[in-house]
Amino acid sequence: MQPIAHRNYSDSSLQFIICECGERILILPNTKMMGTAIERHILEQHKNKGANQVEADRIENALIAQLFKKSPQ
Ligand SMILES: [Zn+2]
Repeated sequence: MQPIAHRNYSDSSLQFIICECGERILILPNTKMMGTAIERHILEQHKNKGANQVEADRIENALIAQLFKKSPQ
């Protein structure tokens, strides 16, 4: 994980969650959109590349866990 260059900008729109495959997913202010972004990533980058459902669920859960850790609420 690379250091964030402009740490003093606390704008949450600049935050990402990082998948174990290395892809960064922008954290969106809208929970529904965020869920869609995660699902799309899982589908395109994991399921379409051969991950089974158990693997896909595990990766998705890890992304959601990161999201909760970074959430200000
Ligand atoms: Zn991924």
